[in-house]
Amino acid sequence: MSIAAVGEIVWVLGIVAWYVIRYPFERRAKRVQVVSDARSLYDIVGLVSALFGLAILPGFYVATGIPQTADYPANVWAVTLGAVIFGLALWVFRISHKELGRNWSITLEIREKHQLVSSGPYAIIRHPMYTSFLLMALGQALLLSNWVVGLAGLAGFAVLFFLRVDEEERMMLENFGPQYRAYMERTKRIIPYLY
Ligand code: SAH
Repeated sequence: MSIAAVGEIVWVLGIVAWYVIRYPFERRAKRVQVVSDARSLYDIVGLVSALFGLAILPGFYVATGIPQTADYPANVWAVTLGAVIFGLALWVFRISHKELGRNWSITLEIREKHQLVSSGPYAIIRHPMYTSFLLMALGQALLLSNWVVGLAGLAGFAVLFFLRVDEEERMMLENFGPQYRAYMERTKRIIPYLY
């Protein structure tokens, strides 16, 4: 089997694992009442971009090999590093979901009895789930040796993150006031101790 094919198989397994982690939270989220909804067109555009860059385009590439002209030779070290980073992404994704529990939403919402979570990964960074998306995008870029597909994941992440993060923090400030402000002062956004 070629190295490129190994990278593709690891990516597919990673996406399946991603959904296995997320699914129970999607089910549970339907049962928890939404109190206030800050969902906007920006938020939808961000989610669609992320879905496109991190799932649809790479999925299409794995299935069809298109766009073949953007392929470059796969490298065993890049693919290995990609697998490690993708695994790290899944781990961060899982611990963030567990920590956020019933406060999780796919869009920006405040739920009934919403609590500010500041433990586990949230003790160090405010958006560990977005960190996991960034790691996923990096993993994808290393696992799939195609320039278009590699850049699409990073672009999809960037659109989601930058369209959403200010609005999300504004929403949290509105709901949790000084408690969230103090929390912001002791944490970074997505990269521990840096940003
Ligand atoms: N930005 C976070 C959460 C993503 S899920 C992360 O990347 O890990 C989005 C929902 O999480 C939002 O609707 C918001 O209500 C909720 N949320 C974000 N930060 C939170 C926190 N520290 N405590 C509780 N809920 C939070």
